[in-house]
Amino acid sequence: MLDLSCIFKEIFKNIKEEVKHMINAKLNNGVLMPIVGLGTFRSKTEDVYQAVLDAIEAGYRHIDTAMIYGNEEAIGKAIKDSNIPREELFITTKLWNSDQGFDSAKKAFNLSLKKLGLDYIDLYLIHWFKGYELAVSSYKAMEELYNEGKIKAIGVSNFNVHHIMKLLEECDVVPTVNQVETHIALQNEFLQEYCESVGVKLEAYAPLMSQNINDLLNDETMNDIAKKYNKSVPQIAIKWLVIRGIIVIPKSINKKRIIENFDIFDFELNKDDMANIKKLNKAKKLFPEFDNVPF
Ligand code: NDP
Repeated sequence: MLDLSCIFKEIFKNIKEEVKHMINAKLNNGVLMPIVGLGTFRSKTEDVYQAVLDAIEAGYRHIDTAMIYGNEEAIGKAIKDSNIPREELFITTKLWNSDQGFDSAKKAFNLSLKKLGLDYIDLYLIHWFKGYELAVSSYKAMEELYNEGKIKAIGVSNFNVHHIMKLLEECDVVPTVNQVETHIALQNEFLQEYCESVGVKLEAYAPLMSQNINDLLNDETMNDIAKKYNKSVPQIAIKWLVIRGIIVIPKSINKKRIIENFDIFDFELNKDDMANIKKLNKAKKLFPEFDNVPF
């Protein structure tokens, strides 16, 4: 007789695998990173606690913070109060510029760990490029922490091709991620192509154009596409990045918008719409150029 329970088990296993593939990016060391996470830059301590709880309730399992945001403690408290098993969450934090260097990087890492109330970090990034020497010494400290199991994946942020090439030359662990400003007006096709050629995933910050969000919300092409799919402009902007295989971390402290930004897994954009969004690139940078960071 046909064993239906076996067939159903197999079907559920396949569905589970497919969903896992859809909602996660696989990093070069095999670690799965949820492709949509919650950004928390400019999220004040008093707002971020509830935002993280709202995000977790909406299905997010990935939170992006940084020492310099000053909200690691509040985020740590929300993580604890959410009662979600630690291994189901993916937490990123970043090494600030003035903490770069071998010993100071380790010290800063341990402080972030303590503030977050965690015993490991999923992804630790060098926040900005501040010269080759500091990048290499900081990264070597991160490699040691990675080998000790205190970090699941290490990477960089605001690094250009030549910065990554230097790390590849001098260090042992290939960075898993490069987190850079990426949105419809700054599409980073070339940087993505280079990063992927050496095993580095691109992660988009400011995916909604940050403080210039009105440029995105008022864009005619984006509004036409949004209407067509019965979605909002931010949802189209996030989906377009996800389809490109880019990890995305939209920030919001508003429950409705937090839910909206995660509700992007039930539709696809067709080739023509992807191509129309591609035409919106203006190489328009809102954040400092990587080789000339004034802070
Ligand atoms: P985003 O592009 O995510 O835009 C955030 C802005 O959009 C906020 O004003 C937010 O307001 C608003 N917003 C969010 N969702 C919606 C929506 N659905 N409809 C209308 N408005 C919306 O900018 P960020 O600069 O915050 O970038 C995202 C994250 O990337 C940061 O939070 C941070 O984690 C990271 N980042 C990293 C940097 C780096 O150097 N590595 C630099 C900058 C950011 P509201 O909260 O009121 O909803």
